Amino acid sequence: MVKVIKTRQELEDLRITDTRSIGFVPTMGNLHQGHISLLEKALAENECAYFSIFVNPKQFGPNEDFNRYPRTLGEDIHKIETCAQKYPHKDVIVFAPHNPSEVFLASETHIVSVPFLNSIIEGAIRPGHFDGVTTVVYKLFNLVQPKRAYFGLKDYQQFIIIRKMTKDLLLPIEIIGMPIIRENDGLAMSSRNQYLNPEQRSHSLILSKTLKKIEEMIAGKRENIKLAEQYKLELLKDQHWNYIEIRDSLNLSSDISQAKEISILAVYQLGTTRLLDNIQVELK
Ligand code: AMP
Repeated sequence: MVKVIKTRQELEDLRITDTRSIGFVPTMGNLHQGHISLLEKALAENECAYFSIFVNPKQFGPNEDFNRYPRTLGEDIHKIETCAQKYPHKDVIVFAPHNPSEVFLASETHIVSVPFLNSIIEGAIRPGHFDGVTTVVYKLFNLVQPKRAYFGLKDYQQFIIIRKMTKDLLLPIEIIGMPIIRENDGLAMSSRNQYLNPEQRSHSLILSKTLKKIEEMIAGKRENIKLAEQYKLELLKDQHWNYIEIRDSLNLSSDISQAKEISILAVYQLGTTRLLDNIQVELK
């Protein structure tokens, strides 16, 4: 059964009496198969799932798309119901606050911040973004008190930051990273893909194709990374790339001399739409 609640009070009341193990999936809505894959896993691994739909104002910069971010609650609930039908004996509680004041108090001053990780790579381009993410996720964790929480590796840096926050603050929550769900042609699913016009949509394939090419170039061998770094410099002459970074998957360090696995993280920008993607490569 899917139950939708819109206030913090309802969530707190429900949570006090709910003794089941909870798998939690925080999202900003406008759901696609990527989000639903997280819900499926949460339902499979826990007695019930809590799913939040909240466009978090604190993680948008002043010139970003907060106002035009797609809000499609009716369709989202329909997709959640379809997924939940596969688990007829399990409940999904959807927390969809009707107003940001259900999550953020007017008097609030506290910021949850993961230093260093919040200001590199994506954080260098979007100052304050990750603090907005960790602040809301920490608050949602407190409200929901899940046993496990599910995040997509699509936002790889976000996953690493939330895992670090959870570890540092001794939160008793298991953070689970889930594989990137892609369109048939390779583009990573994202609510922002709908901003692309048809020409940009076909141009967008360069992102996943380039990551695949770098993966093949490295072929699991540390000594090939130099080659990939040179190739990267060539690629970056195309101004559409915001960045292409080769980092240690464990902690996003640029020192990859000891890395067992590396992540290649990239953003390709088409118009105002920034497309994020990444790929992991195990090193032999
Ligand atoms: P968002 O609503 O975009 O903030 O995303 C909510 C959650 O869904 C985050 O943990 C994302 O990493 C995850 N997610 C978004 N897109 C995908 C995707 N294509 N595959 C897997 N997870 C995704």
